[in-house]
Amino acid sequence: MAMLEINDLHVNYGMIAALKGISFEVNEGEVISLIGANGAGKTTTLHTLTGLISAKSGSIKFNGVELTKTPAHKIVEMGIAHVPEGRRIFQNLTVLDNLKLGAFTRKDKENIPKDIQDIYERFPRLAERKNQIAGTLSGGEQQMLAMGRALMSRPKIVVMDEPSMGLSPILVSTIFKIIEDIRKSGTTVLLVEQNAKKALAISDRAYVLETGKIVLSGKASDLINDESVKKAYLGE
Ligand code: ATP
Repeated sequence: MAMLEINDLHVNYGMIAALKGISFEVNEGEVISLIGANGAGKTTTLHTLTGLISAKSGSIKFNGVELTKTPAHKIVEMGIAHVPEGRRIFQNLTVLDNLKLGAFTRKDKENIPKDIQDIYERFPRLAERKNQIAGTLSGGEQQMLAMGRALMSRPKIVVMDEPSMGLSPILVSTIFKIIEDIRKSGTTVLLVEQNAKKALAISDRAYVLETGKIVLSGKASDLINDESVKKAYLGE
């Protein structure tokens, strides 16, 4: 059984069909990318599986448990953490307080200080700036904080929406390295990215979305050499 199984998922915004019956799966330990043009439905997919919007029909099973009727805070408790697009950290709180809030749903409060130290080791930039107001961090630092905050819930899977958006090339590389580290530490990753080339380079498999449907899927190493993918998404 896959960790995450999405089956024939339909999502509408009013009369508009944003997802028209998509199915895909994520196995434990994998990095999976969803790639596609603007408006293809990538963010909608992530928001549906984290419980922020509701499905019209279809199912999302996480370790066998149906998520489409599960409230968002329960979904976090079950081990799915979301790094949202545009980062959405708590702008007026410090770095440290943002990290603490990431652990809000945890029952094992005694382990939180150690996990904060682990985050500081992974993101030394955050350690240096732990008392800085988050809204004054640079874009890349805010992205690191959003990732750190998500990891503070000790997730089984992290879903990330466009983590490289708006970052300088060097920071983009840093963020992708961090994603690889997260996987190495045993956390599964579902990644939505416009930067298809970088995303495929670190993924096991990927799904290509076009106007609410999955049009192509396969091993990332095959997709990266696929002519249609190259043309449409890799700028070659
Ligand atoms: P991008 O890469 O541009 O973020 P995406 O693949 O993440 O795109 P979505 O944000 O999931 O795409 O949007 C899918 C479709 O649903 C788009 O046509 C979008 O305009 C539409 N849509 C998204 N949110 C809403 C909303 N709240 N109300 C109406 N339509 C919406």
